[in-house]
Amino acid sequence: MTSAPDTADLQAEMAALRAFSAAVGSDPSLTQAAGGNTSIKDGDTLWIKASGTWLAHALERDIMVPVEMTPLLAAVEAGDPAAEQAHRFTIAARNPSGLRPSIETTVHALMPQRVVAHVHCVDTIALAVRTDAVAELGQRLDGFNWAYVPYHRPGLPLAKGIALHRAQRPDVLILGNHGLVVAAESVAEAEALLRTVKQHLRQDARPTPPADTKRLAQLADAAGYRLPADRAAHAVALDAAATAIAAGGSLYPDHVIFLGVGSTVAQPGETPADVRRRIGSAPASILFPGLGVLMRADASASADAMARCLADVATRIPKGAPLRYLSEDENHELTNWDAEKYRQKLDAAAAKR
Ligand SMILES: [Zn+2]
Repeated sequence: MTSAPDTADLQAEMAALRAFSAAVGSDPSLTQAAGGNTSIKDGDTLWIKASGTWLAHALERDIMVPVEMTPLLAAVEAGDPAAEQAHRFTIAARNPSGLRPSIETTVHALMPQRVVAHVHCVDTIALAVRTDAVAELGQRLDGFNWAYVPYHRPGLPLAKGIALHRAQRPDVLILGNHGLVVAAESVAEAEALLRTVKQHLRQDARPTPPADTKRLAQLADAAGYRLPADRAAHAVALDAAATAIAAGGSLYPDHVIFLGVGSTVAQPGETPADVRRRIGSAPASILFPGLGVLMRADASASADAMARCLADVATRIPKGAPLRYLSEDENHELTNWDAEKYRQKLDAAAAKR
């Protein structure tokens, strides 16, 4: 292990972090849309990705926000709801963008290591949604200093779950029904650790036949629906086991935020209009078994990214694996949380641009 660079190296490490962030953000198997976040600590200052921004844009625009760690950690320790509002701890004088820090800022602050990356790695999620996740992960992560944190809503509840493991100083966290955190003393080490963990958790997606885009285009026509931005999104409707997994409910938070609660599966012969009439609303995406997926015409880029994510996750979960879905209460608390409403608002604004 190399020693942590001193402050003089901060600029170089920040540049390395931006490059790492952009690479992670451009890999749909690690990050989708505004999900995932990276950070670096400089004394008591935590530089963290801004809420609602995309890691993929880390080289083009300034997406890092400075947060004062000591008061934020004190708020977590005290169970103070202020810990939910990391923007109250931003260092305004050094934050010209005025952006808010990530809703997952406490995750980063609680890790003692200098560099932290949190990603929604699809191989990780495919294991972290299982009720037997600990046993499955244990086999694959033997030799790592890792910890499993059961599902909690991001924010204070998740921070409390992570805080329980602080004495162990894990550098790999698996967040149940959510994703992966890796931490190290340098960007290069964090990057290497992320690569290694991903390799250990790798599961091949079941291959699927091609989507029937001709038939889907006919169904979409004049119905307020369109083909997905990424053809990989169709796979969830082209593999019966994956469709059944999706039909079971919501598996992780960003699905709920950007696609809504659960997934809507069309019944045989149904058109989008039939589906709308049956369920009384127009879902962001509709799965047509054996054909593929349609997106609502006004669905955001984030919704498209999450549609691809669902296909990537569901086709990696073995048929019959025991799954833990988000409960009705967990779905509800996500959609009614102010911090998530802020993220949705940024997303809607970006969709209009
Ligand atoms: Zn996350």
